[in-house]
Amino acid sequence: MVFYRKYRPQKIEELDSKEVREKLYNVLESSSVPHAFLFTGSKGLGKTSTARIVAKVLNCEKKTKGIEPCNKCEQCVSITNGTNMDILEIDGASNRGIDEIRDLREKVKLSPMSATRKVYIIDEVHMLTTEAFNALLKTLEEPPSHVVFILCTTEPHKVPGTIISRCLRIQFKRATEEELVRSFGKIIKKENLEAEEDALRLIANLSDGSFRDGAKILEEIVTLAKNKKITKELVEKNYSIASTQYQIAQMIKSLEEKDTKGGLGIVAKLASEGVEMGYFMQGLIETLHNSLLFKAGVEFSEDNSVLVMDNSKLEIGEIKRLIELLAKAKSELKYAVLPQLPLELVIVEWCSVAVGADHTSSVRGPVAPSSRPTSSVASPLRSLDGTPSSRATPRLDIKKETINIVQQGISNYSEHDALWTALVDKVKTYNHSIAGVLRGCSIKSYDGKKLLLQTNFKFHKDKLSEVKTEEVLENALRGITKKNVKIEIELKNR
Ligand SMILES: [Zn+2]
Repeated sequence: MVFYRKYRPQKIEELDSKEVREKLYNVLESSSVPHAFLFTGSKGLGKTSTARIVAKVLNCEKKTKGIEPCNKCEQCVSITNGTNMDILEIDGASNRGIDEIRDLREKVKLSPMSATRKVYIIDEVHMLTTEAFNALLKTLEEPPSHVVFILCTTEPHKVPGTIISRCLRIQFKRATEEELVRSFGKIIKKENLEAEEDALRLIANLSDGSFRDGAKILEEIVTLAKNKKITKELVEKNYSIASTQYQIAQMIKSLEEKDTKGGLGIVAKLASEGVEMGYFMQGLIETLHNSLLFKAGVEFSEDNSVLVMDNSKLEIGEIKRLIELLAKAKSELKYAVLPQLPLELVIVEWCSVAVGADHTSSVRGPVAPSSRPTSSVASPLRSLDGTPSSRATPRLDIKKETINIVQQGISNYSEHDALWTALVDKVKTYNHSIAGVLRGCSIKSYDGKKLLLQTNFKFHKDKLSEVKTEEVLENALRGITKKNVKIEIELKNR
């Protein structure tokens, strides 16, 4: 019983994302189906499952509703089982050379054996070599009419523009909390189980926008629940520390509502669970920082949006003040009598200011307008979206000001903290879901050759130890340190 496989969508209407559904209906209902698609987005968002559905739509012998596949005819069944000789799935990572693509080019010319259309699904297409891309391009320029290519990639920026321009691009985004809760709810119902909605919500928060990750967690929890109702408590007991992101979201909610008791409650919980306060504050600052940039009109790259609490009720001025308070508290952490004290004081101070009061008068911390370095203005913007934003000129002043504040806060961080921030930021540009997991870890040691990470969860350790993930991490580290650094991940003893 693997939920992810069992409940994998088999029709367009079963896909989680409304945007993808609509785009596919539009394209596949038209008389001229494109010869090449490019599916982009992080891992676990259903690119390959969707590619198979497209293959079925193109080949189903007994379409039921409009263009939806029947999932019963010979073509449909063999595509679902992966035994259809005309639907070829190729892993770009292990078939990246010119010879493989030349071979493919020869076979492309042959007519399909039983299907109407041959469909080539090339996963991780960005891994192809330049020569292989050139060979592929020739096929895409003059594709035989019986062939459709579906190229999938987590890193579209590594795919040559000449290839991209010949494909119809569909972007897969992270599922929202609502979409995930709905999908998990369906599973619970079909499995004849019971679950609190809050429990599903927490699982959605833990899954970083990926249905696959979420379904995995749900399955683990179902096993733990032993046929009893799935409660939020049970999920928390087994996963709560993993979800620093969730705790951060809860903390921001408390701060928005000026809920002193709620905020202090979260701190107490974190402390009792042994969560490192500096790390938590760092996460809180980063999230607020993103929220600030978002509110100031900075465009984020497609995949970054999940990090931004764009529904935050806080005003720009409020976020700015919170970041100042937190940055100062973080710098005081070293000398704190109790590690949780600086954060607690921030919560008390913040929540004691009446809603709507003039925040600027009580600004404190290391921010003096005269000491703002002007040279550092652009770099944090670049690191977030790749290019300095030229949009929203009237708001630019706000951006400059706030970013400097964040920067000054960061100058108080230790060297490990700085490396950590840079690493998470860099990884974010490659793969959002890895960055999400990374946030749940901390640096244990770093000596210039080896970076030892610690995590509380086996789930995180497994994910970070995957070969491809390690590659991403080591590439990111190389980019930052200009050295070859080995990464190791260990489980914290709990
Ligand atoms: Zn069919």
